[in-house]
Amino acid sequence: MDADVAVVGAGAIGSSVARWLAKDGHEVVVLDKETGPALHQSGRNSGVVHAGYQYEPGSTKARFAREGARRLIAYCRERDIPLRQNGLLVVAQNETEIGYLEEAHRRSQTNGIEARMLEPEEIQQVEPAARGRAGLRVPAYASFDARAYVHSLTGEAMTAGAEFLYDTTVEAIEDTGRGVRVHTSKGTLEAGGAVNAAGLQADRLGQDVCPDMRIVPFRGYYAEVVADKRDMVEGHVYPAPDPELPFLGVHLSKRADGRLIVGPGAMLAFGREAYSFWGADGRDLLDTLSWPGFYRLLGDAKIRSLIGDEVHKSLSLKAMAAEARRLVPEIEAVDLVDSYAGNRAQMVSREGELVMDLVVREQGNTVHVLNAVSPGLTCSLPFGEHVAQLALERA
Ligand SMILES: Cc1cc2nc3c(=O)[nH]c(=O)nc-3n(C[C@H](O)[C@H](O)[C@H](O)COP(=O)(O)OP(=O)(O)OC[C@H]3O[C@@H](n4cnc5c(N)ncnc54)[C@H](O)[C@@H]3O)c2cc1C
Repeated sequence: MDADVAVVGAGAIGSSVARWLAKDGHEVVVLDKETGPALHQSGRNSGVVHAGYQYEPGSTKARFAREGARRLIAYCRERDIPLRQNGLLVVAQNETEIGYLEEAHRRSQTNGIEARMLEPEEIQQVEPAARGRAGLRVPAYASFDARAYVHSLTGEAMTAGAEFLYDTTVEAIEDTGRGVRVHTSKGTLEAGGAVNAAGLQADRLGQDVCPDMRIVPFRGYYAEVVADKRDMVEGHVYPAPDPELPFLGVHLSKRADGRLIVGPGAMLAFGREAYSFWGADGRDLLDTLSWPGFYRLLGDAKIRSLIGDEVHKSLSLKAMAAEARRLVPEIEAVDLVDSYAGNRAQMVSREGELVMDLVVREQGNTVHVLNAVSPGLTCSLPFGEHVAQLALERA
């Protein structure tokens, strides 16, 4: 055996799994096709510590976000990783959104996350530039430097003995009955067990365990507020979340480095790792277009309208500013410049539903992390430990 456990993917989840296993005395090899860690979802995101006020009670997200947020903040503090504990304000503009807000407030109480409903005049005491007919304040939100965090996890995993092999694409994980053979672009490796934490590619390496769902990537693109207007928001200002959608809607977030970002949008992507509007990948596009769930998803009028709005927003800063103005009326298109993008490993079921929760499936000697969507970063410390323990049971 080359290792007790082979981990595919050096994003936040794979790195957290590897760190836990190495510190627990196991031999670990991490394989990543890129030149370093956090080059996909874990390095292209909002960098928000989501305390998880609105997740469906009992879900895997709700289970891991609360503990994950607490531990992530402590982890960043102890290691001097840039962190800004600036709190969340959610605002509702109409009756439907007030209903969403009240549902989110109920969920926060069940999930044990401190949150307080606000009258319209109280909103401005929290964020002077924000407006709404009702608000919800969640103090436990924060911003952190996600890339620095993942680099720290990989560093600690290596110090504890884990080996990281970059530029190494995993082509298949073969179960031998007594362990796994991991076939890569650089040869074959034998291990007692494997963890598939391949993010945007996870369904391909785990196709036997997820015949009922497939990744249909959604591009999250950001605009950024120009430097002299950054201080119009100090924390995070979000719209009330539609409980039927995994996307949070365009919001304003003060990052740990002081930049104020607006986004992310949720535009269908033509390639899983294509980060520009026109970027495409033939195989990815074919996979999306050949998935029956994709057409069933498009059958939903709410999704069709969302996609229509997204095309407009992703091509026009004017449309992005109009969306942001629902939260902070003083924002103008001239205050925004285009910024970065990140794609979500969003699973769509055969029936056409957007899978809402983090999904873990096990088969033989392998554990697969599927639908590693937000708040995967926030959950990554306790969730990584959970996945590592499942892997040990199977190795
Ligand atoms: C736009 C956006 C905003 C987000 N904002 C937040 C947020 O504010 N807070 C939060 O908690 N979460 C957020 N998330 C979610 C969070 O980023 C993810 O849940 C988390 O990063 C998933 O980590 P991962 O390790 O599973 O995947 P990834 O970070 O995508 O890592 C997967 C790794 O696997 C490697 N890989 C893939 N295929 C192979 C292969 N065949 N062989 C070898 N290596 C392979 C890739 O190179 C990559 O390094 C956001 C996500 C997006 C897209």
